[in-house]
Amino acid sequence: MAGFLEAMGVRPVLNAAGTLTRLSGGPIRPEAVAAMAEAASLCVDMAELQAAASRRIADVTGAEAGYVTPGAASALLLGAAAAIARLSTARMARMPETAGVPADFVVARSHRNSYDVAVRTAGARLVEVGLPDRLSGAGVRDAEPHEYADAIGPATAGILFVAQPGTLPTLPQIVAVAREAEVPVLVDAAAQLPPAANLRRFIAEGADLVAFSGGKAIGGPPASGFLAGRADLVTSAALQHLDLDVVAELWRPPVALIDAARLKGPPRHGVGRACKIGKEQVAGFLAALDAFVAEGDAARHARWLAIVEEIAAGLSGSPGRLELRVAGDTGAVPKLALHLHGGADAARALILALEDGTPRVAVEQGAHRAGTVVFNPVCLSTADASLVAAAARAALALG
Ligand SMILES: *Cc1c(COP(=O)(O)O)cnc(C)c1O
Repeated sequence: MAGFLEAMGVRPVLNAAGTLTRLSGGPIRPEAVAAMAEAASLCVDMAELQAAASRRIADVTGAEAGYVTPGAASALLLGAAAAIARLSTARMARMPETAGVPADFVVARSHRNSYDVAVRTAGARLVEVGLPDRLSGAGVRDAEPHEYADAIGPATAGILFVAQPGTLPTLPQIVAVAREAEVPVLVDAAAQLPPAANLRRFIAEGADLVAFSGGKAIGGPPASGFLAGRADLVTSAALQHLDLDVVAELWRPPVALIDAARLKGPPRHGVGRACKIGKEQVAGFLAALDAFVAEGDAARHARWLAIVEEIAAGLSGSPGRLELRVAGDTGAVPKLALHLHGGADAARALILALEDGTPRVAVEQGAHRAGTVVFNPVCLSTADASLVAAAARAALALG
């Protein structure tokens, strides 16, 4: 179908920049593409499909339940909506209006990031604690568990925790505070795969809901993600997301996802209805999740390492120092860094030349000020490696 995009005047990107949404995420795994084609050709009951997804996500994560969303950001929105509305159809009907309802999420200042707008979109208010003092030279103290405890009160709906390899305080410390105060912890773990063990880790550490991307390393549709967590909160998320244009007397949702007997009746379309997901995204995500787990960290790491090694071999003679970044554990992504003798100007020139070249190549841009260009293998096929190396040689005029 490259012919279709070409006719539209859209140039494909050889993506050595990683699973960036602005670059359409990564290529979708073949197993997922096949599942998407099957789902696209027929109709299903979306609640039944989500109930099946819930069982699969529960198996893979160890959580009570799960729900497929059009990305981790929408999983955060739905997770926050679930923590605020719980199983009250009256609250659901008013969302994102939350006056008089506990809707505060306590969050460390250092965890604030551009994606927390998703939590605020559900009607939540973020209450910041701690002080990530990076500039005074006094040492980084960040946030302490007791500061979270002090910030929790009658208006608190939950705690927002952003998982990164070195996040402080640790999730078990925050879970201890949350359990004491009886508020749920919502974890943003969007990009914390691999290692595959993280599928279970945050649930095992006591998170009530965890949001992951399906379009990052999992290799599902770019507009997919999921929530894993407590069954009652997943039910609330489902009720605020599923299309509820239903005849009340004839409404029979799958009991495992939504126990209708616990409700006065079906709520109206919820705050998450605008985050609609297609059957093909749900099916594609589930197939990709299976393939991600089946491949395993070691095989995935070896595949990625071979790609960056081939690019490195192709870049010998570059006007800079090549550094293969391998973390020593198979749960990390191996990368290739090129530290250019020409510094920031040379890095920016290379990035732009790659972007303007044919084929068009995208690389990680974050270290350009240090004169470094980084090649990330996650969105590259084995066959792409030699094409990226050739494009970089051409951009560096290495002949
Ligand atoms: C990528 C990312 C998101 C958003 O994930 P999508 O699946 O693109 O919606 C949210 N939070 C963090 C920390 C991320 O890295």
